[in-house]
Amino acid sequence: MNSRHPELKSFIEVEQNSDFPIQNLPYGVFKCKNKPTPRVGVAIGSMLIDLDCLESKGLLKLSQKVFHHSSLNEFINLGKVEWDKTRQKLRELLSFDCPIIRDKPVLKEQCLHKRSEVEMLLPIQVGDYTDFYSSIEHASNVGSMFRDKNNPLLPNWKHLPVGYHGRASSIVVSGSNIKRPVGQIKQSEQTPPHLQACAKLDFELELAAVIGKKSKVGQTIKLEEAPSHVFGFVLMNDWSARDIQKWEYVPLGPFVSKSFATSVSPWVIPMSALEPFKVKGPQQDPTPLKYLQHQENDKAHFDINLSISLQGKEHERSKKISQTNSKSLYWSLAQQITHHTITGCNINVGDLMASGTISGQEKNSYGSMLELSWNGQKPIQIDENNKRSFLEDYDQVIMNAWSECETYKLGFGELTGQILPAAEL
Ligand code: MN
Repeated sequence: MNSRHPELKSFIEVEQNSDFPIQNLPYGVFKCKNKPTPRVGVAIGSMLIDLDCLESKGLLKLSQKVFHHSSLNEFINLGKVEWDKTRQKLRELLSFDCPIIRDKPVLKEQCLHKRSEVEMLLPIQVGDYTDFYSSIEHASNVGSMFRDKNNPLLPNWKHLPVGYHGRASSIVVSGSNIKRPVGQIKQSEQTPPHLQACAKLDFELELAAVIGKKSKVGQTIKLEEAPSHVFGFVLMNDWSARDIQKWEYVPLGPFVSKSFATSVSPWVIPMSALEPFKVKGPQQDPTPLKYLQHQENDKAHFDINLSISLQGKEHERSKKISQTNSKSLYWSLAQQITHHTITGCNINVGDLMASGTISGQEKNSYGSMLELSWNGQKPIQIDENNKRSFLEDYDQVIMNAWSECETYKLGFGELTGQILPAAEL
């Protein structure tokens, strides 16, 4: 059988261009008007199937009841055998030739919701969030802007996946408004720092892996074992205040310029859905140390297209400002996890490991405004009358991610966030 399962079809209609064919089946947490208790659901076409409902009807038999929770963590904690069992059962129940739900109007009414009528919540209870810096194009752009055009990468960059510990408490779900942060900014060498609203507010286009299996303190996860520690992926927008960052980041890295908010997609795409889209990564030169070396034929990267659109309050519709692909990332997710644990640092279920800003080689494939407008030196044209260097109040940022093969497209759903004015000083 083809691993992409092109023959799979559901009795639920899935439009050609939908992010959610039966081959996807991503998990999220939702609530709705007539039942405001948060619970786990799965997206298919324009519908959502309520797993708490299926579980209570005895249609999903797992070792514990896990779908009446306000996060996916309890389900993820059950481990891969039960993830696979659930996925297989859902494929069966939703397939076009299975009458169990298809032919029962009352059950359908109870367990199926229109996605447009439910509210999606943060899917994961995130314990720790680590942000890497794995795109060579992004790291080179930033290095040549602020350090040395001819030698943009720092000496460590090609030897280890650079990262920092992000802030988990301010991770919010798509659709949450983002208040423009206030912080310390130093305008020039001559002027003293002062407190003001961020004038260089930015987004960062990223993918983040959701950890599905924990490790112990003192344990290092080997490269070949790293994929088994991942449950799935979310799309991420790591909001950044560039002017605050510039003044604060020496010598320990970004702090409050990054910690005010990070948005994630409501849908977690399971690793098994992305399995057919695994590809070989770029050649690494110099060869990294042994613990980070992939085998010649390892497919440790993912062929996922990514795009960014922007809509200001003066715009009638959103305009696509960038498109790229995650397969060009220099460091793989497995290398990030192995390096993260090389000193014995443990990881937990629900931790997020983000890629860092994903930029391509072309100017219209950069993953941040900092790069797209080259730190404000080359504002980008949004429409005839409007340009942008950084984000303005009421701008809406829309990110999308999807993989495609001959027979279907599989996506993450939209990740949106709108900028609201800063608090008055
Ligand atoms: Mn980032």
